[in-house]
Amino acid sequence: MKGILALEVPQCSEHQKGKLRFYCTTCSKLVCRDCAIVGHRGHECLEAKNRVNIAKQNLQLAIENSGKPVMSVRQISAKVDAATISVEKQIDDSERKVDQQYDQVIERLNADRNKLKQELEKIKTQQCTPLQEIKDEVTNWTEAMENTQVVAKKIMAAENQWDILGMEKDITDAFKKLHDDDVALNNKHLSVQEVLSTIITFSPSVMNVSNSPSQMSNQVTRNRLYNRCPTCREIRNRTPLKFQPVSGIPVNENLLGTVQQSPR
Ligand SMILES: [Zn+2]
Ligand SMILES: [Zn+2]
Ligand SMILES: [Zn+2]
Repeated sequence: MKGILALEVPQCSEHQKGKLRFYCTTCSKLVCRDCAIVGHRGHECLEAKNRVNIAKQNLQLAIENSGKPVMSVRQISAKVDAATISVEKQIDDSERKVDQQYDQVIERLNADRNKLKQELEKIKTQQCTPLQEIKDEVTNWTEAMENTQVVAKKIMAAENQWDILGMEKDITDAFKKLHDDDVALNNKHLSVQEVLSTIITFSPSVMNVSNSPSQMSNQVTRNRLYNRCPTCREIRNRTPLKFQPVSGIPVNENLLGTVQQSPR
């Protein structure tokens, strides 16, 4: 009340001498005395100082009523924050689990690779050791044969009858023994043939990883994602985020893990 009296009364834009001392409640506007008589006949025109209290009450009510939408918008904002944190946390969790799981599989693969190579090395030793023995025998036999031939030819070439008579038995015995050894070596040749016809294959034993599906399925986690309306940015619905783990060794693409979002 004091305020409106203290301030200068505004001038009517239509009447030179008119001061806007009245308020037409019908038209919701300030008017001067001339306005009230000419343009607002029959309207409810109050003195401005009397209208001020009503105006203040109206504004106070409007301010109080405005609290509700402010609260609901704050709630939406809090929910959006919570949803964002929830998604980020669950994505982090999923990423950690993906790392863990793949690390495990990689560890298994490496262990399996080493095991296979150890087994192959063992087969190599098993098969190559007897082969080396046969090779040594062949070398010894060849040397012995060459020596015996050299000795026999020298004696023949020398034409010393006493030497020929004296050495005949030793030399023929030596050739006979070499012949016997040759038969024995030929029998061993069969086992060499066996090795030659052996095909060494391997099948990755890690295939058995899928034999422990319970352990694998424990890794499956169901997370929730929140879809936001592209227009109003409001959270529209929640959809579960499925993390499908590797169910075996990724020999083909069907066995690879996938991340899926589908409506709940
Ligand atoms: Zn006027
Ligand atoms: Zn009016
Ligand atoms: Zn919308």
